This record gives sequence, structure tokens and C-alpha cells, in this order.
Amino acid sequence: MSQYEQCLEQLDKICAIIKKMESGSVATELTSHEAEILKHPNRTTEVSIPVKMDNGDLKIFTGYRVQHSNVRGPYKGGIRFHPQVDLNEVKSLAFWMTIKCAAVDLPFGGAKGGITVDPKKLSEAELEKLTRGYTRAISNIVGPDIDIPAPDLYTNPQIMAWFMDEYSRIAGKNVPGVITGKPVEAGGSLGRDTATAQGGFYVLEEVLKKIQKFSGEENKKDVTIAVQGFGNAGYNFAKIAHDASYQVVAVSDSKGGIASEEGLDIEKVIEHKNSSGSVVDFPDAKNISNEELLTLPVNILAPAAFENVISMEMVNNIKASIILEIANGPMKIEVSEALAEKNILIIPDVLANAGGVIVSYFEWVQNLRQYYWEAEKVQTRLKEKITQATNLIWETKEKYKVDMRTAAYIVAVERLRKAIKVRGI
Ligand code: NAD
Repeated sequence: MSQYEQCLEQLDKICAIIKKMESGSVATELTSHEAEILKHPNRTTEVSIPVKMDNGDLKIFTGYRVQHSNVRGPYKGGIRFHPQVDLNEVKSLAFWMTIKCAAVDLPFGGAKGGITVDPKKLSEAELEKLTRGYTRAISNIVGPDIDIPAPDLYTNPQIMAWFMDEYSRIAGKNVPGVITGKPVEAGGSLGRDTATAQGGFYVLEEVLKKIQKFSGEENKKDVTIAVQGFGNAGYNFAKIAHDASYQVVAVSDSKGGIASEEGLDIEKVIEHKNSSGSVVDFPDAKNISNEELLTLPVNILAPAAFENVISMEMVNNIKASIILEIANGPMKIEVSEALAEKNILIIPDVLANAGGVIVSYFEWVQNLRQYYWEAEKVQTRLKEKITQATNLIWETKEKYKVDMRTAAYIVAVERLRKAIKVRGI
């Protein structure tokens, strides 16, 4: 079953739960109608991007933009540059954005974009040409009140700045609100760079309070955390957790991982990665594989790299009691269900990594108003928004006796179907 088919299966499951909850009411009749609408992305775009490489050769890259739903507001979703990007992956990620924005109550729909490319093999000039080519190719279907992209795997603030600049040239005016995750100098928001990680951290602390586990200040140093992926989301999460006195005992990147029972000094690990290209071979830690990291005896496991990294075969070896899904889709639904049966609490991606899109929303609001906020205001509002979402999802979980992922989907699908209904779609 493809990843997108799994998304649809998940949607059917949620609709069946909603139907059961409401059997006998008018709403029941509407569920299948709205589910059918949500199963089909509104628009799927595939583009060819010709780039003249540094050696003079012409290379054609394939890019995508999937606009899944705009029933609650303009499309919103990141752009991914990765060799594994394909239409099926982008469609699933776009669907998850629709669910995520609705789950945390942002006035956005869901979209995602990507280019099938290994950006590590491109020079800076080639990367800029590719980004500008992609911008031109999709410029007629994006815009501040149409579709607002953002960073994702292997895209960064510089790439966002090139996108914004190219779009502004086409529009003949400065349009900072066309994309979020920009550098502050190009209209970015303070706090956007750490927002995904910071949001995940707020959610984690709120959940720890609810389950009355590890929540006292004195306990933090005894709580062990392993983080897979040491990029924007993973590094910042590890740093925030370390600075808050939790014990980050293992981290990894695409080249492998490192572990130390005494805990890692995250600032020193990033210095080592910046100078050597990887976290691997960090002094005072032992090298481990990415798979070993996932099965370490830690309290909290935070996958922050890629989809489907936790497989069914690993289920019996996972020793963490909480999994905080900072990455999108780090496990398939059947894996998630098998882990839940083992009493492992999974904090789902649509909530755990929503901090990024929440601060992207703040950035977009600041761009439209041309009025910029202090860092403290961004933090306060992020905490407020993501804590509200955590509380509602937790209440829904308790009320319907479902896992947190199902609860988040119920909250989202309820909001989406109400919007579909009142709009008369
Ligand atoms: P990034 O490109 O900044 O970092 C990715 C990290 O993952 C790098 O350290 C890379 O070495 C590592 N990695 C790649 N393949 C790996 C593998 N097979 N095993 C272990 N590590 C591997 O990307 P990011 O923005 O940090 O995104 C990471 C995840 O978080 C993605 O799933 C993304 O969709 C999700 N996410 C990111 C944001 C955001 O604002 N950046 C928001 C929401 C969700």
C-alpha cells in the first residue's frame, strides 16, 4: 500500500469513529461526502526545471506542488529537496498539512512541494538556479493569499529568500508573504528557525504534566532522550531539551549516530558536526547506527529525520516509553498501533511538529501587516497556541478512549467537515 493510500485508510478510520460517535444524528450522513472531498487533492502540479550546471551541461529536474485542501484558508506547506521526493510522498505530506493546520486551528489548508534532487551534490550557484527555476514554474499557483510554501527537509532560510526574491521580481513588487521561513533580513520572523523544535518541546512538557511523569524540575536530569536527525528540527530540539536539563544521550544524522550514557553536550556536538560534516566520531561518545539509536533504552525517543524509520520489525525492540514525532510520518499506522498496544505513548507528528507552521503563520501575519514582533511575543503566542491544541487533543483522547494520533485527526476532521458543510462544497 502506498503512503498516500495509507493516509486515506487513516481518514476512513477516523470517519468511522466519528460516525459511531454520532450515529443517529444528521452529521452521520455528511461524513462520507466530506471524506470523499478530503481524499482528493485539489490540484497536483508536476514541473520540469531546466538548470545549466556549472560545467555547462543542461540538467532537467522534476518538481512538484500538491495543493491538497484550501477549505479553511490558503494552502500552506513546505518544500523538500531530496532524492526520494516523488508525487506519492508529496501528496501524503500535503494531506498531513491539511490535517495539521486544522488540528492546531490555523486558518490554512494543506499543500507540499518538492524537487527530486540531492542538494548536497549541487554547488550554491546551481542550488540558487534550481530554486529560482522552481519558483518560476509554480509562480502562477502560489501567492500570499493562495499558497504559501515554507522550508522542509534539506531546504533552508536562504532557499526561502531566493524563492521570495524570484516571486517578487515576477510580481514587480516586494511580496514577503509568499513564503515563510525566510531569514529575518528578508521578512522572516524571529523564532521561526527554532519554532518546530520549540513547539515539540512545549507539547512534550505539557504531556509529561498530564501523565504526571518526569515533570518535576528535580526529575529532568534523569530523563533520557534520543534524537534521530540533527538538522533544523532535531538539533534545535536536542539543544532546547539539553538546555532545560534533560539528558540527551544520543543523536544522529544521515551518516550515523553517537551515544553517551553521561549525556551529550549539544553545543559541542554541533561544533563537531560543523567542522567534520557529521556527528559521527564525536569524542567521548561511541558511534552507533541509526537503527541502534531507535532501540536504545531511553525514556523519550524523538525521530526528527525522515518518514518510515520505525518499522514493524523494530516494534518489540523499542524501549522508549514516549515517542515524540518531530519528523513527519516516522512510522506507518500499523506500527503506531502496535507500539500503542505496548503502552508506548506516541505524540503524533501533526501536533509534535506543528510549532513550525504556527510560527510560519505568525511570520505571514507580520508580512501582511508589515509590523514585526519581538522574539518574546512569538514565543508566548507559540506556547499559547500549541498548548491549547495539546489540551483539546488530550481531552478528545480521554473522551473517546483513543490514542493521541486518532484524537488529533478527530479534532482536525471535525473542523474540516464543518468548513466543507458551511461553505456548501
Ligand atoms: P533538515 O534537512 O534540516 O535536517 C534533516 C536531518 O536528518 C539532517 O541532520 C540529516 O543528516 C538527517 N537525516 C537524513 N536522512 C537520515 C537518515 N536516514 N537517518 C538519520 N538521519 C537522517 O530537515 P528538518 O527541517 O530538520 O526536517 C526534519 C523532519 O522534520 C522532516 O520529517 C520534516 O518534514 C520535519 N519537519 C520540519 C519542520 C521545519 O520547520 N524544519 C517542520 C515540520 C516538520
